[in-house]
Amino acid sequence: MPAEMKLLTIVLIVIVLCPAVSWASENPLLSEWKTPFGVPPFDDIKAEHYEPAFKEAIARHKKEIAAVTDNDEAPTFENTVEAMERAGVLLGRVASVFSAMRSSMTNDELAEIAMKMSPLLSKHGDDIRLNEKLFERIDKVYQQRDELELDTEQMKLLEDYYKGFVRGGAKLPEDKRERLREINVKLSLLSLEFGENVLKENNKFEMVVEDQAEMAGLPEAVIAAAADAAKQRGHEGKWVFTLHKPSWIPFLQYAHNRELREKLYKGYINRGNNGGELDNKKIAAEMAALRLERAKMLGYDTHAHYVLEETMAKQPQSVRNLLGKLWPPALARAKAEAAEMQKLIDAEDKPFKLESWDWWYYAEKIRKAKYDLDEEMLRPYFKLENVIQGAFDVSEKMFGLKFEKRTDIPKYHEDVTVFEVKEADGTHVGILYVDYFPRESKRGGAWMGEFRQQQKLDGKNVRPIIYNVGNFSKPTADKPSLISFEEVGTLFHEFGHALHGLLSDCTYESLAGTNVPRDFVELPSQIMENWASEPEVLKSFAKHYKTGEPMPDELIEKITKARHFNQGFATTEYLAASLLDLNWHTLEEIDPKLDVAAFENEYLDHIGLIPEIIPRYRSHYFRHIFAGGYSSGYYSYIWSAVLDADAFEAFKEKGDIFDAETAKSFRENILSKGGTEEPKDLFQKFRGKEPSIEPLLKRKGLK
Ligand SMILES: [Zn+2]
Repeated sequence: MPAEMKLLTIVLIVIVLCPAVSWASENPLLSEWKTPFGVPPFDDIKAEHYEPAFKEAIARHKKEIAAVTDNDEAPTFENTVEAMERAGVLLGRVASVFSAMRSSMTNDELAEIAMKMSPLLSKHGDDIRLNEKLFERIDKVYQQRDELELDTEQMKLLEDYYKGFVRGGAKLPEDKRERLREINVKLSLLSLEFGENVLKENNKFEMVVEDQAEMAGLPEAVIAAAADAAKQRGHEGKWVFTLHKPSWIPFLQYAHNRELREKLYKGYINRGNNGGELDNKKIAAEMAALRLERAKMLGYDTHAHYVLEETMAKQPQSVRNLLGKLWPPALARAKAEAAEMQKLIDAEDKPFKLESWDWWYYAEKIRKAKYDLDEEMLRPYFKLENVIQGAFDVSEKMFGLKFEKRTDIPKYHEDVTVFEVKEADGTHVGILYVDYFPRESKRGGAWMGEFRQQQKLDGKNVRPIIYNVGNFSKPTADKPSLISFEEVGTLFHEFGHALHGLLSDCTYESLAGTNVPRDFVELPSQIMENWASEPEVLKSFAKHYKTGEPMPDELIEKITKARHFNQGFATTEYLAASLLDLNWHTLEEIDPKLDVAAFENEYLDHIGLIPEIIPRYRSHYFRHIFAGGYSSGYYSYIWSAVLDADAFEAFKEKGDIFDAETAKSFRENILSKGGTEEPKDLFQKFRGKEPSIEPLLKRKGLK
């Protein structure tokens, strides 16, 4: 997942960071940052600084906008569009730090501030988009666009501004504007509440195990981590399993105790579904209804039509077409996988019917039987530090980048490591923070974000400050952090987003780095996962944490052979979530009092999902679509996967996954271009043709 900051896109689309301006204040968020590279001064920033900083920053942004609208000169690209790009520097800065901390260092105090600030920010966003004088100026520039001799990037920026205003309601009659504002405020609050509830439910659940015998089957490291968790949670001498991925996944994979597997799994899939004040079902229905009302008001059939207009897919039907091509083969494969598992169960002493909480356990058995491969055989080769180095080495081979660890740069938590990124010739590229271990103050998943984005509006190339966050297996008392193969892929994925941000070479921040449509943004991230599993690359970084021995060829071969293992399940659970998202947002009518559970079940039944699999996200903890920016957009990963599989094919066709010319073209046409051109044009320039779905089907073994 990229840029959590996108939660604030409505405001950020018209704001820009510009460190050349200096502010004098006792509030560190409002003063000049005299830190190395101008990174946020984390040691000085306290929770109480955010509220006054937001208010001051909004006030300043308003003044800057007033200066644009009150300009007596006729509107030009420079005095209107570029002037807007220069406005809101301070707000962008405050918002980027706050949203990063809300995702990975949150607490009740920050949650409360978010609840307070959210309506102000929503109102501020609407004040801009519904500012008639401002729109009039932008419209005038837009109408003359063909005579202005703008370059490609300027034209794209102008079009984006114009569309952003129209889509934000600039052409709505007065009576509808008030309702639009109400909806936006309401949605911003509901989405915060939704996310907060998932986090609370995630942390609230714990499964305390008192008898060691109940953990039969679990690897030693997992038991050790559970003992650590118990200690931290005041259950010394016992073991605690939580809903953090490094805890629940191995339990489901290895624990022989079926009842406990069920208990833990149900804890996970019922987050936000337990009644009471943390239940998210009502919020989901209310949000979907409000989104639909807003879309209709703006002239669209549904929320999905509204959202997709700005993506590569353009409309719901194109998404349905793609998902429709993938669903039947994925489901058929998943059914075959389930049947294989049922066979194993039927051969046991006390057979039973395979249930969703059994899947991981029997999948592991199959992996072992068919491929003689066990997740835990791989883990000793994936010491976190080595995997990080592996990702760095890939980018060095492709783009010549170098990563130097810095210990003089302020960071927000002791688990964070900071790197300076340089070109082969030593030129500064940017800063990268990595923050990989779970904690209660961090939400689940993995993501990339920016404290500062690249831009060179005033000639000086302002370089980006990027972060990668994850929730990987922590070191235990006697072992370093040894991550799973899946986590290796996640680390490379987020690193790909980081490269997209770091290698950006755009003039305008609004178009820089990862400011691209959702269904394109996962191309740079997902393509990196390809390298992570290439034998040649594995050999270079997968070294046994004790002996330093590289992973034996035999084991690498097993990984390669097992690459289609469980793909039916993985693709089906993902597609089911994508379809569920699309279903929510293509409804043409929604009763805000909708029975969400019934709605969901009926739909999953309708698409033929088997009960042994549930969607990767159920509505009540589907943060991507109800607390992130992915509503009608969860399909983006597979849309981008078509692109990334085909783009990786370009390297393969050259017979060298590090082919210099192809890497150079990927950097020039994709990574450095941000959103300065239409994604389909960027892809075409890189690949020389339109993307084909074949490489993806082949990779997933669905063909
Ligand atoms: Zn991503």
